[in-house]
Amino acid sequence: MKSLNSDNCDLCSSQKYPIIWANDLLRIVLINDQNYKGYCRVDLIDHIKEMSDLDEAIRNEFMGVIFQMENIVKEYLQPDKINLASLGNITPHLHWHIIPRYHSDNHFPGSIWSQKKRNDINKFSKTQEIEFIKHINEKLNH
Ligand SMILES: [Zn+2]
Repeated sequence: MKSLNSDNCDLCSSQKYPIIWANDLLRIVLINDQNYKGYCRVDLIDHIKEMSDLDEAIRNEFMGVIFQMENIVKEYLQPDKINLASLGNITPHLHWHIIPRYHSDNHFPGSIWSQKKRNDINKFSKTQEIEFIKHINEKLNH
């Protein structure tokens, strides 16, 4: 697939978060400064704005990886809820947030972009992070 880059796009320029898995179409990054242990983002590599702009096969592959990630996160971390979110108002480049939610997290039951309700710290240790990345790769590459 031809890579379409856009200037001034955060997702087309160098990556702020570590890439923990990728193929020709997609990459998964781990949002590190997280109060939401296991918070990942699945990015389309090409700069495309809407899901309806994608070919059906590509859209299905994209959604397939998102649902696989939801399953992996659900089984591995057993959060109270998982939020899947695709907004892109600020960065109109397709990406989906996979957000494990916990009753004790900073915004529950609001969205993570709502006003903070408490100050929970629920990060991975470095060892937990490495184990989580290894687990995702084992599941997605099997
Ligand atoms: Zn972009």
